[in-house]
Amino acid sequence: MEKFNVAIVGAGPGGIFAAYELHKLAPSLSVVVIEKGKPLEKRKCPIDGVKIKSCINCPSCSIMNGFGGAGAFSDGKYNITNEFGGDLYQYVGAKQAIELMEYVDTINVENGGAASRLFANDR
Ligand SMILES: Cc1cc2nc3c(=O)[nH]c(=O)nc-3n(C[C@H](O)[C@H](O)[C@H](O)COP(=O)(O)OP(=O)(O)OC[C@H]3O[C@@H](n4cnc5c(N)ncnc54)[C@H](O)[C@@H]3O)c2cc1C
Repeated sequence: MEKFNVAIVGAGPGGIFAAYELHKLAPSLSVVVIEKGKPLEKRKCPIDGVKIKSCINCPSCSIMNGFGGAGAFSDGKYNITNEFGGDLYQYVGAKQAIELMEYVDTINVENGGAASRLFANDR
């Protein structure tokens, strides 16, 4: 059986970015990301509004599971609500919060997410 230094369970934004940062900061570590859902290209919710109008509880939900997690089809904020967890800037200050958001946005844009660019005014 192949062995790895680090195993990350879940290839949502949290898992993907954890693997990205680990690879950048400690390239000698071997990292595996384990995801229970389908690959991105096979993710398709069957709800079409005609034949299937509501959730039929697929064994693997294409909205929530698979590479990219629940964030696969999002615009890149990765925060559906701040009603739980709160606002990042309240923990780290506005300056660092903006820097972190720009950092994540840069990585998204560099990896094919240009259409979801967060800050278009200063680059
Ligand atoms: C309907 C909906 C709409 C949203 N819209 C937006 C939006 O427009 N813009 C935006 O910025 N954010 C949006 N969000 C929020 C965003 O999707 C989340 O904040 C983000 O996906 C959280 O990332 P995560 O990695 O923490 O978790 P998740 O994205 O949930 O990823 C967890 C991953 O782990 C996998 N997993 C779980 N258990 C196991 C296991 N035992 N073994 C293997 N794999 C496992 C899951 O399959 C999943 O892929 C939306 C969320 C939802 C639900």
